[in-house]
Amino acid sequence: MSEYRKDPVLNQWVVIAPERAVPYNLIKENPENEEKEFEPSCPFCAINPEETKVLLKYNIEDKNNWDLLVIPAPNPFLRVETELKKEAEGIYDLMSGTGANEIIIESPKHNEHIFKSNLNKIEQIFWAYRDRILDLKKDIRLEYLLFYKENKTNGITHPHSKMIATPFIPSMIETELLGAEDYFSYKDRCVFCDIVKQELKDGIRVVSQNQEFVSICPYASRNPFEVWIIPKNHQSHFEMSSKNQFYHLADIYLDTFKRLHKALGNIPYLSVLHNSPIQEESLEFYHWHIEIHPVIPLYQGEVFSAGLYVNPVAPEEAAKELREKI
Ligand SMILES: [Zn+2]
Ligand SMILES: [Zn+2]
Ligand SMILES: [Zn+2]
Repeated sequence: MSEYRKDPVLNQWVVIAPERAVPYNLIKENPENEEKEFEPSCPFCAINPEETKVLLKYNIEDKNNWDLLVIPAPNPFLRVETELKKEAEGIYDLMSGTGANEIIIESPKHNEHIFKSNLNKIEQIFWAYRDRILDLKKDIRLEYLLFYKENKTNGITHPHSKMIATPFIPSMIETELLGAEDYFSYKDRCVFCDIVKQELKDGIRVVSQNQEFVSICPYASRNPFEVWIIPKNHQSHFEMSSKNQFYHLADIYLDTFKRLHKALGNIPYLSVLHNSPIQEESLEFYHWHIEIHPVIPLYQGEVFSAGLYVNPVAPEEAAKELREKI
């Protein structure tokens, strides 16, 4: 039986509709590609840090080479050099394209996908996110840094994340911030802390947990097998995480991707860091988290038309399947 469920942060109704068939046949048509460690046609394999502007380089494991690079996007649509100008065009508001687009090339190896990666590598990715936040935070014109990682959704399979820095807060984050602030103003508690508490008590939507984090399929999951990774203790800013937290974050992230891979194969996905705006001091009502959305080809009409999500897999079913996959 289908039902409507309301997300307590976004205040958004989602339809959980088991009647709608999951196109598992399409998922199975995503076989493992036999990818090599080096792919001559790949722009990231071919990169030479000596000839490229490099914003951050880690060579912790490979002293003679690099393990991770952050570079400006080759065709940036936002630039830090652009002066921030705000103006009106009649009833419309306009700003110059001040900001930044960066690429985090997570490995020199073309085929080092998350699910077959190791803890050190994943920790490095999160340290790189943190280091870029601490650096760009100094530019007070920038309000938000959006870090996200795609697999196969943009045609490049080399492991990488992207970062977009903007002088405003992207609308979905703004909606989350407003929803969380509203919840706090009524209940005097952080909505994410409450979600963690209830999910750990119920257990039915928990995928896994460690000392610092829990991964869950959220109550009003918009997409099949959507997973959120949430710090167990309240923390508004990702970049304030300790070494111990980064270690445990890498641990649960790797664990989650191994489970998703076993359940769904090599499907496209989007993994996004939802963090507080960088110029804010610590917030008592917002709590950073990572959302992982497997991109299963579905009927996207309702989403594009009105932001209405119809999810054929109940999160309890998805969590049960992911718990068993290890
Ligand atoms: Zn490559
Ligand atoms: Zn919290
Ligand atoms: Zn979120």
